[in-house]
Amino acid sequence: MSYSSVLALIGNTPVVRVTQLDTGPCELYLKLESQNPGGSIKDRIALAMVEAAERDGKLKPGDTIIEATAGNTGLALALVAVRKGYKLTLVVPDKMSREKILHLQALGAHVVLTRSDVGKGHPEYYQDLAARIAGETPNAYYIDQFNNPTNPLAHETGTAPELWEQLDHEVDAIVVGVGTSGTLTGLSRFFAKHSPNTEFVLADPAGSILADVVNTGSHGEPGSWLVEGIGEDFVPPQADLSRVKTAYSISDMESFEAARDLLHHEGILAGSSSGTLLAAALRYCRAQTKRKRVVTFICDSGNKYLSKFYNDSWLFDQGLLTLPKVGNITDLIP
Ligand code: PMP
Repeated sequence: MSYSSVLALIGNTPVVRVTQLDTGPCELYLKLESQNPGGSIKDRIALAMVEAAERDGKLKPGDTIIEATAGNTGLALALVAVRKGYKLTLVVPDKMSREKILHLQALGAHVVLTRSDVGKGHPEYYQDLAARIAGETPNAYYIDQFNNPTNPLAHETGTAPELWEQLDHEVDAIVVGVGTSGTLTGLSRFFAKHSPNTEFVLADPAGSILADVVNTGSHGEPGSWLVEGIGEDFVPPQADLSRVKTAYSISDMESFEAARDLLHHEGILAGSSSGTLLAAALRYCRAQTKRKRVVTFICDSGNKYLSKFYNDSWLFDQGLLTLPKVGNITDLIP
């Protein structure tokens, strides 16, 4: 079988059961969004948001797409832009991995790096800067994934029904992270209709305010975290937290260890946010007293993070390992 375009390979990702880690009495499944052609769950929303803008007459070939992105939406948009003939400008916070930025540039995107240490409302905050650039660029369309309704819709009409079919209409709990909240809100809408007893579990990086908002209804000062793609210092405008019953706050090191264990025991190379989701899913599964069918996501592939948390020297530099391990690959590279 052949496909008419790489864009036709987006979605219909496989589900794999976890068998080599301790899942307590639960069955734990992983939906491998890393198998999308751009390497992440964001391919789905990038294609859907561009096609919605085309249908609404907001984009025509040759126009410029502008977006603020931590990386994966950028990679996904770059793929869609290449295939459909758009120019692309991306505003990216400077904490994002070098591999992601080089990949974006290789795809022909214009990357504007901005500060990671400023919050919403600051002119150098990545979303504020992207909105300003969009206003100053002729024939530009600002995708605005945080406010774009096609973002959750792509998950409601794509990710969710796939999962539902793949797990034979039996899903007790779904463990999700929140970046823009598109995944959570889209899944939440689908399951409210088709399986209202399905529980939602939030996996949140320690330092993000979202777990506190779920658990206590309020939050303290946000901190910082190294995990990429999830966690926020504000509640995203489209976030529907109403179906989230449990929220776990997961440290960077617990996330990184979960992702490294996944690679060592199951052979799945996942990114840091997938480590957070897996760590939360394992905590949830091990706290159950009877069998539940639980699912979470491998949001992106780990190859972008080989020089980061898969590398002991990097963990050591971050103060997360006390002693560098002998024999690390970086010792072998001059
Ligand atoms: N994981 C990764 C690696 C991501 O890039 C993102 C999106 N920023 C998410 C998870 C979160 O998904 P959402 O934006 O749908 O909340």
